[in-house]
Amino acid sequence: MSQQKFDQLREQLAEISDLVKTAALLGWDQHVMMPPGGASLRAEQLATVGRIAHQKFTSAKMGKLIDGLRSWGEQRDYDSFEASLIRVAALDWEKASKVPSELRAEMSRSAALANPVWVDARKRNDFAAFLPVLRKNLDLRKRYIDCFEVDDEPYDIVLDDYERGMKTKEVRGIFDYLKEHQAPLVKEVAARGGNAEHHHNFALEPQKVFELEVIRAFGFTDEAWRLDPTVHPFASGTGITDIRITTRYFSEHFGGLFGTMHEFGHGLYERQVDPALERSPLARGVSLGLHESQSRMWENLVGRSLPFWRHFFPRLQELFPDELGGYDDERWYREVNAVEPSLIRVEADEATYNLHIILRFELEQAMLAGEFPLEQLPEEWNRRMWDYLGIEVRNDTLGVLQDVHWSGGSIGYFPTYALGNLISAQIWEKITADLPDLHDGFEQGEFGPLRDWLREHLHRHGRKFTPGETLERVVGTSQIDPEPYVRYLREKLAAIYGIATTT
Ligand code: ZN
Repeated sequence: MSQQKFDQLREQLAEISDLVKTAALLGWDQHVMMPPGGASLRAEQLATVGRIAHQKFTSAKMGKLIDGLRSWGEQRDYDSFEASLIRVAALDWEKASKVPSELRAEMSRSAALANPVWVDARKRNDFAAFLPVLRKNLDLRKRYIDCFEVDDEPYDIVLDDYERGMKTKEVRGIFDYLKEHQAPLVKEVAARGGNAEHHHNFALEPQKVFELEVIRAFGFTDEAWRLDPTVHPFASGTGITDIRITTRYFSEHFGGLFGTMHEFGHGLYERQVDPALERSPLARGVSLGLHESQSRMWENLVGRSLPFWRHFFPRLQELFPDELGGYDDERWYREVNAVEPSLIRVEADEATYNLHIILRFELEQAMLAGEFPLEQLPEEWNRRMWDYLGIEVRNDTLGVLQDVHWSGGSIGYFPTYALGNLISAQIWEKITADLPDLHDGFEQGEFGPLRDWLREHLHRHGRKFTPGETLERVVGTSQIDPEPYVRYLREKLAAIYGIATTT
């Protein structure tokens, strides 16, 4: 009887998963293929699909089905597919059923309509044009928060959407540690003379050739992956065997390549989920923080490492003989690891990146609390950029308008980027202890052992466990610890810039 009920649950969740993935495909198409004229129609389509999925999932019938299976699930092995699916569905249901489908649909419609407004406002450096849609998104978020009981801080509710179980207070504690221990690193590097400016002109076509060679060595295959250009890079797809990543290109520097490696890391996490979880809510990365740990790992711990460039630099030099004729791998390694406060988060180096996040984390809480009129957001942004990074924001395109997130109503998302950086270093300490030959392999262009380790210890679990449980299975503790990241950064910068190895 219970097995029958479970099969019923499995089938219904599979249909909902199909709807969710259809929405993802509509979203991918919106950013990659759709002509601008499709925008308002697409907003309706996304809202409709989202509403149907939400209604199906939050129905009283579904609640009863899940409830009826709870004790049956608890009697089974905790790690089993059955127990995990019931556990996760119950938690998801409790949260989702508190939000009316109409509000949910309005949130996705508003986000889809705001996107082209943001693209245009960003292009024209016109914050005033973006303000009404930002206000609308923010109001909807507040209505969303009002659907829940707030135990401690309203921000907990939105943070939990991206990092289940994480509290604002914990993040603040971690960020305070970074302010104290990471921010000084940037000043120490600056005191050493910082970086000489490099001016390059890298043709785009050979960049594309090189980038494909790199991600193919990482594990990109034509059979299960796509790579396309977009304004703002992202990773998406319709399932384990259909992974889509996007990128953009710059001629002055190789930021596009690092962005591609980043999105590859996200894609690989989804690609290596256990196929048995497909078409269920378990078939994806467990949280944005864990997800970001994977993208940052391939971008930084692999892509900005010396062993990686020992292998790939000769090929890069071959493709850009004029630009890189006078370089060797170590000089190039120093250049791609240059530390310099800059305006754009996605191009920020490893030492300054988290400071961009702390600024956004603080502003989001202030906006939700209505601490200042929204018209003043650019001033608040610019003041913090000066306080944390010591740089002046010349215009809003390079400031408050740079990120896609607020146009999509994603508030509570940004902290997961910094948490991901920290988790990546926690996991890296474990990997390098388990695989002592890892770096020798990189020098030979061999990335399979890393990929396999990640599949075995993290990726295959998908969303079966909570983020804390998942982290514990990988590194032995459920706590996000900022120390390994700061330690990694200090050691790296000590070797490049000659700053002290300890404080
Ligand atoms: Zn990412």
